[in-house]
Amino acid sequence: MVVANQKGGVGKTTTTVNLAASLALHGARVLVIDLDPQGNASTALGVDHHAEVPSVYDVLVEAKPLAEVVQPVPDVEGLFCAPATIDLAGAEIELVSLVARESRLKRAIDSYEQPLDFIFIDCPPSLGLLTVNAMVAGNEVLIPIQCEYYALEGLGQLLHNVDLVRGHLNPRLHVSTILLTMYDGRTRLASQVADEVRGHFGAEVLRTSIPRSVRISEAPSYGQTVLTYDPGSSGSLSYLEAAREMALRGVRGPGEAQHEQHDGGAQ
Ligand code: ATP
Ligand code: MG
Repeated sequence: MVVANQKGGVGKTTTTVNLAASLALHGARVLVIDLDPQGNASTALGVDHHAEVPSVYDVLVEAKPLAEVVQPVPDVEGLFCAPATIDLAGAEIELVSLVARESRLKRAIDSYEQPLDFIFIDCPPSLGLLTVNAMVAGNEVLIPIQCEYYALEGLGQLLHNVDLVRGHLNPRLHVSTILLTMYDGRTRLASQVADEVRGHFGAEVLRTSIPRSVRISEAPSYGQTVLTYDPGSSGSLSYLEAAREMALRGVRGPGEAQHEQHDGGAQ
């Protein structure tokens, strides 16, 4: 599951770590690959990622086996993280001159032998080679959309890139899931944006949206997901519900979404 949106701060990392934790807490084995030099997913999962730690950079640029960088996430059984260090900031440029520069992450994942039910890749806010590596490696794209005015700007470019990667590098790739984040039900703007997104994408949009919640934004400063930081909070419950929806839909091929039954305005 490639979690991508080149717009910054829309909830990619928050969504990645909290969906991954939700699924792991229900018994799935889940790997989070932190593909953002900011290393926010590694921080949020409480995984060591200072400059000397073996990381996704070594996997992409040095062809180090993924198994040598993956760390178990403290507190959540079955959840693992391949951390990003600041080195990854240079990878975007270093990759340009390497062979098979778009498929280095895919190769690493293909030769990872531990059993896994889900892999989430947290992308940086750009459409460069790191995001292309994620799109070549993944099957499904999950786009978090923040319920704010500029939310839909730039989305066309993202969808175009998904089409390009599908056409040239990875025929399985498709946008399977859209998640509305930071939803503030008190504002008319949030519901307008939500309606527009649902009108545009239909069944790909999860019925569950994620509310704006202070607990969600506090959790990373404790190196935790909201699931362990405040399990009963509205943010925690909404990510659990979104994960349940995703798990129930299972693995789908391109274009299967529209055959699903949806109640209440999802079309
Ligand atoms: P970047 O593009 O920089 O990687 P991102 O898309 O990964 O950003 P996040 O880091 O997940 O976005 O979220 C941006 C900020 O919004 C963070 O400070 C995060 O804690 C906060 N945030 C995310 N989701 C929520 C929410 N539902 N309620 C309140 N704050 C949130
Ligand atoms: Mg992020």
